[in-house]
Amino acid sequence: MPVCVLEERTAACKGRARAAPWRGDGRFPMIRSDPTAFLNREVYVRPSLRPTFLALVPVLTACAASAPTPQGGPEPAAVSAPASLPAAIPAPAPLPSGVAPSGEDPRIREIVAAVSPARLERDDRTLVGFQTRHTLSDTVSATRGIGASRRWLFAEFQRISQACGGCLEVMYVSDVVKGGSSPRIDHDVNIVDVVAVQRGRTDPDRYALMTAHYDSRVGDVMDSTSFAPGANDDGSGTVALLEAARALSRYQFDGTVVYAALAGEEQGLLGGEVLSRYVKQHGWRIEGVLNNDIIGNTSGVNGVTENSTARVFGPGIPVNAPEAELRRYLYSGGELDTPSRELMRYVDRVADSYVLNLDVRMIYRLDRFGRGGDHTPFFQQGFPAVRVTETNEEYTRQHQEVRTQNGIRYGDLPEGVDFPYLAKMTALNAATLASLAWAPASPDSVTITGALQPSATLRWRPVSAPDLAGYRVYWRDPESATWDHSRWVGNVTQATIDQVTIDNYFFGVAAVDREGHESRIVFPAPGRER
Ligand SMILES: [Zn+2]
Repeated sequence: MPVCVLEERTAACKGRARAAPWRGDGRFPMIRSDPTAFLNREVYVRPSLRPTFLALVPVLTACAASAPTPQGGPEPAAVSAPASLPAAIPAPAPLPSGVAPSGEDPRIREIVAAVSPARLERDDRTLVGFQTRHTLSDTVSATRGIGASRRWLFAEFQRISQACGGCLEVMYVSDVVKGGSSPRIDHDVNIVDVVAVQRGRTDPDRYALMTAHYDSRVGDVMDSTSFAPGANDDGSGTVALLEAARALSRYQFDGTVVYAALAGEEQGLLGGEVLSRYVKQHGWRIEGVLNNDIIGNTSGVNGVTENSTARVFGPGIPVNAPEAELRRYLYSGGELDTPSRELMRYVDRVADSYVLNLDVRMIYRLDRFGRGGDHTPFFQQGFPAVRVTETNEEYTRQHQEVRTQNGIRYGDLPEGVDFPYLAKMTALNAATLASLAWAPASPDSVTITGALQPSATLRWRPVSAPDLAGYRVYWRDPESATWDHSRWVGNVTQATIDQVTIDNYFFGVAAVDREGHESRIVFPAPGRER
C-alpha cells in the first residue's frame, strides 16, 4: 500500500509531500500507516511549523484519495512502526474534571471599558457647585453645603438603581458626634454617610466595599463657609463611587458590593468610624475595603507628571491587635501578609490583568507619613482595608483657599483633575470589586505544616459556594512582593507541595470558582505538625 510519510518521499507522493523536520520531536504524533489520520485527530504542530503543516493538508488529502483500498494481506514491513514507537499514537486524553479554570473574565473588561471620563467630570463639577461640603456647613440649603451635596449623592444612587431595576439599596448611615468630643468638632453634628448596597445573589452576607469621603475643607479646618471645591480631595473618589456603581450595576454578583460616600473625614475620619462601627454591629463579613482618597491628579509637586501608576497603601498589623494575633504573625514571618496586604496584592493583580497602562505601586504602610484616611477605622476594626490614591500629589491643590499668590494658583479645582486618569482609577476599583464579588469567599482557618520536611502541607476549611471549582496554592520567594508561583490543587481541603521547603518560601491559598474568579489569598497560621 502506498503511503505518504511526511519525513520521506514515496512514489505516490513524490514531489508533493515534502519532508518536514518533525521526526525526533517527541511532541508530534507520527503520521505513518494512515495518511488521513491527521484529518480526524487533533495534531499538535509547533507554532513555527504551522504554515508548513497547513500548506501540506491538501497535498496529503489528495495523496490519501489516490491510495488504493487495501485488498487484504499483510502490510509491507517497510512502513510498520519501529518497535520503540507505538503503531498508533493515541488521541490526547480528555481534560480531567478537576482542570484549572481560566482566570480571565471578558465581563470585567467590559466593566473597565464602561467607565466614562466625561461622566466623572460632569459629576465632579456638580459636587464643586455646592461651594463647600465642609462637615459643619449648611445642611438645609438646596444648593449649597454638605446637606445639599449628600442629598444629591443619594438621588444619584437612586437614579442608578432605577436603571438596573432597583438593584441598589440606598440609605443614610449616621451618628451624632458631640461638640467638643474631637478638637475639630465644636458643636453637635450629625455625621451622615451615603451608602448604596448592591446585594449579592448567592452569598449576600459577604461584602466588598468601595469608600471615599465627600466632605471638603480649606486651610482652616474649622472654616465651614469659604469656597472649598474639593474637586480632587475627595471629589475624585466620590464621583468614582457613582461611576463604579453605574458600571457594576449592570451585572449580578455572588457577593454584595457596597459604595459608600463618607462625611467627616477632614474632621477626624468620623464617617469612616460611623460606617465601620455599623458594619461591625451588623456582622458583615468584609472581603475588602478599597478607600479612595485623592485619586485624580497626575502632575505632582515633585515635578513628575505621569498617568500610569497608582499607589495602594496596605497596612500591616494594627497597633490594637490582640496578643495572640501578634504572636501568630511575628512567629511565622507573616507581617507582610496581613489580610490588608493580601488585598493590596489582589488590587495589583487585577490591574495587571484588566487595567491597561496602570501599574500599582504597593506600599507597605498604613498611609502616607503623618496623614490618614477612612480605611484606618475599618483596619482597626479588623477588616482588610487599603488606601487607593494617586502617585504624585500636588499640595497647592489640597486643603487650600482658592487664590493666586506669588503667581501660583492655589485651590482644589476641577482643572487639577485628570479625568481620563480618574477613569482608570475608577476602573481599577470596579474591576477589583467585580473580581472579589464574583469569586468565592477566602478560605478560612488555613494552616501550614512541614517543619523538617522537603515539602509544605496546607490545610483549610472548605469554602461554601455553589460554583466553587477548587483551590489554588500559591508560594513566593520571601524577597518577592508578588505571588509568583502557584499550583491548582482541585477541590480538596489539604495539599502538599513537594520540593518547596516551608522555611524558604511564603505560602497562601485562594478559593476559585468555575469561571476562574479567585478569592483574596490567605496566609496560613502555623498548624500542628503530625
Ligand atoms: Zn481626603
